[in-house]
Amino acid sequence: MHPTREEVCYIPGKKREFLIAAPHHGYIPGSDYYTKEFAALLASKLDGSLLYAENLRPLVDLNKNPQLASTPQLKELCHIYQKYALSEQVDLFLEIHGHVNGHYDVELSCGFEFDPSFQFDSEFKEKMASLKRTLKQEIEDNWKEGLPLPPPSIGVFPFDQDVVMKATKTYLFQKIRELQLQGRRIFGIHIEIYKDFRTEGPNSPAYTSQLALVNALAQSIIKSFC
Ligand SMILES: [Zn+2]
Repeated sequence: MHPTREEVCYIPGKKREFLIAAPHHGYIPGSDYYTKEFAALLASKLDGSLLYAENLRPLVDLNKNPQLASTPQLKELCHIYQKYALSEQVDLFLEIHGHVNGHYDVELSCGFEFDPSFQFDSEFKEKMASLKRTLKQEIEDNWKEGLPLPPPSIGVFPFDQDVVMKATKTYLFQKIRELQLQGRRIFGIHIEIYKDFRTEGPNSPAYTSQLALVNALAQSIIKSFC
């Protein structure tokens, strides 16, 4: 049975500077199905902390402006989620979403266009370029014959302007941007995963493909951000 209660859960990992979050996870229509499962696998591969919502999506978007929440309780949950996301110890924030109509199977975005005159952006741009390159390479090298799904297509914004889920208007990613402009070294990446690559667990037919994608993501993140 899937849980039906609504809550925000935080599970600290060994590397608390990595936070992997799933703000819209849930098992009810309108939520991002199985994003928690995907985020949990990625967190375990990276030894990072895990943050996720359970069944909140139809009521509130935890990464949006808390002032838009319809009740004080939901506003408080937005604040809790965002406090973890922006906590001082975090220097890499990965937010996992599920899409059904993106341009690429996997769409990555930092949420803004790089500013060539800003030193932090030069470094971030290099890391994102490395992530794109190594993720494609990892998938090419390790996508075994016989996996249930073909290798996923990869798009990275701002390099690929046809990425659909750019997160350029997402409240939390704009907050992260403000902090970067104030001098904080925090890298935020919005990650959208096509539905076929999100599964309930080892008994799902596409699980081994999901695992191959999670492994490729983890390896490329380690190579690009550590
Ligand atoms: Zn989402």
